[in-house]
Amino acid sequence: MTQAAHIALDVAIVGAGHGGAQAAIALRQMGFTGTIGLIGDEPELPYERPPLSKEYLAGDKPFERIMLRPAAFWAEREVSHFAKHRVTDVDAMAQTLKCANGATFAYGHLIWAAGGSPRMLPCPGGNAKGVFGVRRKSDVDAIMAALPSTQNIVVIGGGYIGLEAAAVLRKFDKHVALIESLDRVLSRVAGEPLSRFYEDQHRAHGVDLHLGIGVDEILTDDEGSATGVKLNDGTVLPASMVIVGIGIIPDVGPLMLAGATGGNGVDVDAHCRTSLPNVYAIGDCAAHHNRFADGAMIRLESVQNANDMAKVAAADITGAPVDYDALPWFWSNQYDLKLQTAGLSTGYDTTVLRGDPDTNSFSLAYLKDGRLIAMDCVNKAKDYVQARKLIEEGFSPDPDGLANADLPLKEVQAI
Ligand code: FAD
Repeated sequence: MTQAAHIALDVAIVGAGHGGAQAAIALRQMGFTGTIGLIGDEPELPYERPPLSKEYLAGDKPFERIMLRPAAFWAEREVSHFAKHRVTDVDAMAQTLKCANGATFAYGHLIWAAGGSPRMLPCPGGNAKGVFGVRRKSDVDAIMAALPSTQNIVVIGGGYIGLEAAAVLRKFDKHVALIESLDRVLSRVAGEPLSRFYEDQHRAHGVDLHLGIGVDEILTDDEGSATGVKLNDGTVLPASMVIVGIGIIPDVGPLMLAGATGGNGVDVDAHCRTSLPNVYAIGDCAAHHNRFADGAMIRLESVQNANDMAKVAAADITGAPVDYDALPWFWSNQYDLKLQTAGLSTGYDTTVLRGDPDTNSFSLAYLKDGRLIAMDCVNKAKDYVQARKLIEEGFSPDPDGLANADLPLKEVQAI
């Protein structure tokens, strides 16, 4: 770790997560020889975030195994890592940064890769002791430290993070209730058959699901510790631990104050450039036009997107620009189910099931105007691999062939 006072960097990268780390790696791979500083507010070297709700929370992988690269890797490539440096101000004209600890930096190019912070509950008790987000190693360490003295847990939010956390916590034999305000889990990202499949799986593993209901209050004791969750029908679920997985707020405050264009995150063009000179944004915080969302301006929250955008920003800085045009993909592990998703299902008009969900191995295809736009594959790696290619090609499959799970996807005829 490097101590900072005032340091001039050819490239300053703010955020030492997936996107930031990959940007530094890509710059060196592309032959960039200038100085690179990876400035992050967490104390750790860059690490993988997905295991936080999976193997790391389960205790199956120690921290060393989720580090993106060992310390020596960064030293060998002369990437300076500034840990515990939270950037609070960007002066886009002077090309300088200020940190909460007083350190300042000057930059030639800035790559903003600050991700987002968990959205917390706006209701009374939302910040009580025992209420946790799941974004950083420190969040999960705090959850793990509290687990031995916890029996009743309420997870709020039926998205991937809430569902993954619920699955792990059931392994520890805790009583787990999960609350989703919409009428099905995964409703923002998946079709109904997939939602219902995951609901059945969680119920079969003993998760107490509450769908279509909101939270009124986190109840607390005299010391301000959570004791329960009051739902808006008056039901009280006992809980000394509440895990909140209701999305993130992009961490773009200093960039917006500096005048960057944006709203839901900071807007970038196909080269990941923001509206500020020499400032790029990548990963969860970067809103971009995505071909696989019909050109709509969207943010993606995935490792793939962070890594691919990092390469695009590095390419632009090294004078070999390429457009960001990557096919989105994602995965989620719950119990013994490996879900792999290719493409974006937003705007689908038809779903086609391939295989029987009762076998725990099936796929759900999403079509729009006859074209395959996305596929969720549960324990179906072959479908996933073939779907990626077909989605990229804009393939319009014959629906009967598509529904025939015995027919390899690549042999399905076009219409
Ligand atoms: P991050 O990796 O979040 O890195 C941002 C870094 O910037 C953080 O270290 C943050 O602390 C730091 N930072 C923020 N503000 C400042 C500041 N002002 N100054 C300095 N530093 C700052 N994706 C998948 O594809 N598959 C999965 O299975 C999956 N599972 C996930 C499970 C969990 C629990 C979580 C939290 C995420 C998961 N994701 C998954 C999403 C994936 O981890 C993110 O999309 C990815 O980490 C985004 O990378 P990023 O670089 O944009 O942000």
